[in-house]
Amino acid sequence: MTKKLGFGCMRLPLIDKDDQTSIDLPQVERMVDMFLDRGFTYFDTAWMYHAFESENAVRKALVERHPRDSFTVATKMPTMMLKDEADHQRIFDEQRRKVGVDHFDYYLLHNINGSTWETARRLGTFEFVAGLHDAGDVTHMGFSFHDSPDLLDEVLTAHPEVEFVQLQINYLDWDDAGIQSRRCYETAVAHGKKVVVMEPVKGGTLANPPEDAARLIEGLGAGASPASWAVRFCASLPEVMMVLSGMSSMEQLEDNTGYMRDFAPLTEEETNTLLRAARLIRSDTAVPCTSCRYCVAGCPKQIPIPTYFGLYNSHMRDPGSAHSKMYYANITRHASKASDCIGCRKCVKACPQHIMVPEMLADVAKAFEAE
Ligand code: SF4
Ligand code: SF4
Repeated sequence: MTKKLGFGCMRLPLIDKDDQTSIDLPQVERMVDMFLDRGFTYFDTAWMYHAFESENAVRKALVERHPRDSFTVATKMPTMMLKDEADHQRIFDEQRRKVGVDHFDYYLLHNINGSTWETARRLGTFEFVAGLHDAGDVTHMGFSFHDSPDLLDEVLTAHPEVEFVQLQINYLDWDDAGIQSRRCYETAVAHGKKVVVMEPVKGGTLANPPEDAARLIEGLGAGASPASWAVRFCASLPEVMMVLSGMSSMEQLEDNTGYMRDFAPLTEEETNTLLRAARLIRSDTAVPCTSCRYCVAGCPKQIPIPTYFGLYNSHMRDPGSAHSKMYYANITRHASKASDCIGCRKCVKACPQHIMVPEMLADVAKAFEAE
């Protein structure tokens, strides 16, 4: 049986944590080897991950070092960057060159939402990918999605040829009024689609939950890591075919592949405990940023938005600590400040979590820049 854990290649280990292109390739190679050794096969990358370097890293660490039939690889058409129809073929050809394969096992339209749905309809992106599928250049066709269940229903009704959808699902967002993981999952299932899960640990938030939630999760026993409960929550959903975990270290990979090797679904009691923990965590997170970095490339002021939101969340959990403020002061010696935001709102359009970035940056500035 195919194992339900996929290697997400958007948070690979870095040599310089401030440079997304500085992927630590020797470490990635060791991680890839262990992942395959333990019987896992699915790798997920995308055109824009790691400032366009993730697909190259997948070629070097995986494709050039392992037989093609020992793994499956997924990548994505960057719908948010398409300007005209000719971009489709140009980008796809470049992706085959970067990843070093003649076909992709899974190919997705990346980040369908209200605005990219418009673009995809105008440029015929679904039709282009369906053509790749018919020609054998793509084995399975899907799309990743960050919007409402109603829009998901509209897209799946318009495109029944799609075989799977990639959704943000985790126990924190399951009943969240903004992300609506549960309703999106139920919509996909109602259309008979398989589901790939992204952000099962919510950008790392669920690997280090706040103290009261952590205590509740520890009570589940067996010394399992908080991240393992988060991943198993998603893998326990019957129509989920794959849970992607963006692994950044050997330690994470060993943990993930350990409990997912002989995966056991959660009991009802365990699921309910995690949903109780979600309520505690939600009351404790100021900005629900997942560090996906989708907002960063388009910011004219090059503000390191997710870094500042991470610091702000830590600060709000422990306002008495000087740690986050000191960190902020260090970073702003060489990067734009939160108060440099000009309010152009490009980031708001790019953010899959629907975060009102400029307003939140104003709060960050108030917390960290006032004397
Ligand atoms: S609104 Fe501010 S943070 Fe967002 S893209 Fe514009 S300048 Fe950058
Ligand atoms: S603000 Fe939104 S787009 Fe930017 S990193 Fe956070 S979740 Fe991603």
